[in-house]
Amino acid sequence: MSYFQPVFEAQFAAVRVRFGKAVRHDIKAEIERLGCERAVVLSTPPQSDTAMEVAGSINGHAAGVFTRATQHTPVEITQEALEHVTDINADCLVSVGGGSTIGLGKAIALHTDLPQIVIPTTYAGSEATAILGQTESGTKTTITDSRVQPEVILYDAELVVSLPVEMSVTSGLNAMAHAAEALYAQNRNPLSTALAIEGLRAFVSALPKVVANPDDLQARGESLYGAWLCGTVLGQVGMALHHKLCHTLGGSFDLPHAETHAIILPHAIAFNEKAAGNELAPLSDILGGRTPGAAFYDFAQSLGAPMRLTDIGFDEENIARAAEIATSRPYWNPRPFDSDDLTQLLRDASFAHRPN
Ligand code: NAD
Repeated sequence: MSYFQPVFEAQFAAVRVRFGKAVRHDIKAEIERLGCERAVVLSTPPQSDTAMEVAGSINGHAAGVFTRATQHTPVEITQEALEHVTDINADCLVSVGGGSTIGLGKAIALHTDLPQIVIPTTYAGSEATAILGQTESGTKTTITDSRVQPEVILYDAELVVSLPVEMSVTSGLNAMAHAAEALYAQNRNPLSTALAIEGLRAFVSALPKVVANPDDLQARGESLYGAWLCGTVLGQVGMALHHKLCHTLGGSFDLPHAETHAIILPHAIAFNEKAAGNELAPLSDILGGRTPGAAFYDFAQSLGAPMRLTDIGFDEENIARAAEIATSRPYWNPRPFDSDDLTQLLRDASFAHRPN
């Protein structure tokens, strides 16, 4: 059976994507292809060595390096980076890193419309979306704007080898969450469904191999392929309960992004499968098992993922408050819910109760 739908709308961004071991060595050619000459290379502080290596490899076109990207894209750091971009008269951005670095590049692009070349080193998928989340005075807001969509993505498996196994697992589950929610998205289209299923398949194949051997470049490449597909569907269709709940837990309780996604995913899917069983059915083929929530739980556990919110800094005393915050602004979800439902879900996620 195909994924045909009788009625749908779809829109695709013009993004150049290249895959390949050591493709990062072609950044200079990509800068020239964009008609640019003066790149600023962006990274987080821990990845500054990688940023310096990249800047060295684009010798002649690296106008500067800014290595202060940080989680949640605080506007103060963006302001600092914008001053640097102006001082060195940069005409393009090269972001090397995960969602935090890519977020900084997007925030700069929002203000300057400079073209972005992105070299992702996690599986979060931000490189494939026109979405920017940023933080001001402790509040994280999300906008969608075509100026923040990166123009070029270079997927180089060699750069993900250094991602620790635990982070590879949580980052992979974070990406799979985009695809899982895309299956029941209100505005899904046949291609978003096909991409989501292929993305999930790629991770189910690749993540166990990454855990067994983090240096396996073939498996790292396959997981980046999954990241591209899952990121692409995140940029295409609306997310629901899972993403909104993770946003609340990250924004209001400062929980780490990928780990939170990894822990909430089985429980959010178990909740929604009661209303979106047909849409989520492909998950049973991909993950095995009869029910997708339980199948996600078993898959995450087999990879050694964190299973309890209380293990990543969440205090069970905050369950009711988190449930209240997450229900305070209504949004679409395939299954209606109230704060009692979320209290139960958060309790299950706090104490690693396996969904039935
Ligand atoms: P991250 O970018 O914060 O990276 C986490 C840590 O891992 C950082 O210290 C980073 O330097 C390090 N790291 C990254 N890659 C590495 C590698 N290969 N080797 C060694 N260390 C490495 O984490 P993330 O999960 O990729 O991104 C999370 C952020 O991205 C959140 O703020 C989230 O909201 C955002 N995000 C945005 C979108 C979007 O479409 N706007 C999508 C997904 C995530």
